[in-house]
Amino acid sequence: MSTCGKGKIDVTKTVDVLGIPFINTDMDGLVQMLDGRLSRGEKTFVVTANPEIVMHALKDPDYFSVLKRADVVTPDGIGIVIGAKLLGTPIKERLTGYDLIWRLFQLSAEKGYKVYFLGAAPDVIEEAARRAVEAVPGLRLVGYHHGYFDVDDRRVIEEIKEREPDILLVGLGFPKQEKWIARFGPELKKGLMIGVGGSFDVLAGKVKRAPLIWRKLYLEWLYRLIQQPSRWRRMLALPRFLVTIFKIRFRAK
Ligand code: UDP
Repeated sequence: MSTCGKGKIDVTKTVDVLGIPFINTDMDGLVQMLDGRLSRGEKTFVVTANPEIVMHALKDPDYFSVLKRADVVTPDGIGIVIGAKLLGTPIKERLTGYDLIWRLFQLSAEKGYKVYFLGAAPDVIEEAARRAVEAVPGLRLVGYHHGYFDVDDRRVIEEIKEREPDILLVGLGFPKQEKWIARFGPELKKGLMIGVGGSFDVLAGKVKRAPLIWRKLYLEWLYRLIQQPSRWRRMLALPRFLVTIFKIRFRAK
């Protein structure tokens, strides 16, 4: 049973990749499903998982159990889509947190859902909020807070509870953001809670997203590595993930 949301997603619509059930739908299907849950007031914990997240979960049992408590896990990262294909259980589409937040902004403007941003550096979150409100007229942003606070300081969660957001975007990087949602999500009465990684940095224009052509060529990871070379060690998770998938595939034959 999920601790944050009220109900799991139909398992026949998920694909298992190394023990994590990924939702198997397209972006329209995902947004429609989340909109339905929002309109019914159902709490929903969404994880946007890439191979780094999956590999981290395999060595951190606490994190693995947090991911298992999510209501929806989306395949954020072409590595997951390739992995699922190699396992013989293809996934329809890559669903990134960054694309999803723009769809949710639209939904907020159309239906009045209240949005709250949590995460990133103070100047970054301020700029991200400014740009989001400017880009989407009618977006109901009810508050934001940077991500550099003591997790035991209750002021942040108290402020969020007071604003009563329908959509809470948490960009503290993994595993912190999912652990934060698992710990504090149960205190909220309603809402969609999503770990969005570095999305606020992209939204604020601090980090550039890979151009479409790089994404189409499955080279987003390379673009990111060029922009942020300090990430090279973390990015070794991708080849490790693929090796793990190959081992399973080979054993299964
Ligand atoms: N971050 C934060 N608080 C922290 C650590 C990180 O708000 O204690 C933010 C950081 O400023 C950045 C995001 O979390 O905006 C992490 O970005 P990254 O690209 O590393 O995330 P990933 O998508 O790889 O999880």
